Amino acid sequence: MKKIDIETIQNEVAKLCIEACTTIEKDILQSIKTALQQESGLSKEILSQIVENDELAKKESIPMCQDTGIVVAFVELGNEVYINGSLEDAIQKGVAKGYTEGYLRKSVVENPLHRINTQDNTPAVIHIKHTIGDHLKITICPKGAGSENMSKVKMMNPSDIDNIKQFVIQTIIEAGGRACPPLVVGVGIGGNLEKCALLSKEAILRPLDDESPDPYAKKLEQELKKEINSLSIGPMGLGGKTTALAVKVNLYPCHIASLPVAVNLQCHASRHKVVIL
Ligand code: SF4
Repeated sequence: MKKIDIETIQNEVAKLCIEACTTIEKDILQSIKTALQQESGLSKEILSQIVENDELAKKESIPMCQDTGIVVAFVELGNEVYINGSLEDAIQKGVAKGYTEGYLRKSVVENPLHRINTQDNTPAVIHIKHTIGDHLKITICPKGAGSENMSKVKMMNPSDIDNIKQFVIQTIIEAGGRACPPLVVGVGIGGNLEKCALLSKEAILRPLDDESPDPYAKKLEQELKKEINSLSIGPMGLGGKTTALAVKVNLYPCHIASLPVAVNLQCHASRHKVVIL
């Protein structure tokens, strides 16, 4: 049995929150730099500014964007891990510590109707998966509202299978510049109402070069990326060839009478950091 201290978890989560908000993922930055070579005029200028912004944020340890998001924590907890306290409490305390010590904007309200700021960016949204082994893996994804607000779920009929692409494309068109493209587009297909939304969020966390092992989903990822980039929405919605850096499709079994589909949009900041304890 591996023992992990709750203080260790708190400190690691705090560190991840700060790193996620200030340090762009290498593959995302590289992908923006590659896209920059294919653009010209305003779209090239916007991508150059994004690159400059991200490099400066890392160097100065300041947030890439003023919207430092609500934290989504994906946790994999092995059956051979012993924690001397509440894992969820430790994560919430880590988020509060990270957002306070990192001077990150506090963007969470305690009640969606009363809307009073909690002042420490808690609570985070936590998803815990129980696994086999002695590892505790925590992924911290601060999710800004611009891209999250433009995400969608649709309970389709199985006979609508050929309309999945159309639903995803329509979601991107309606989002326009409001989701801060270039985007990572997560598509969840299957499960039920909540599961497909979760699949789509897990999809945006996949490395950019990761392809779906399912041949149909892989084809869908490639076709959607091509079609989205032909819409000419472009960086920040001001025109250009780069609207999506990647499209990721995650699948799950579903009811014979259902075809749940969710589209989770992730902006160019595409923040997420992982620790394995
Ligand atoms: S969508 Fe992303 S880049 Fe745009 S304001 Fe929100 S966090 Fe910032």
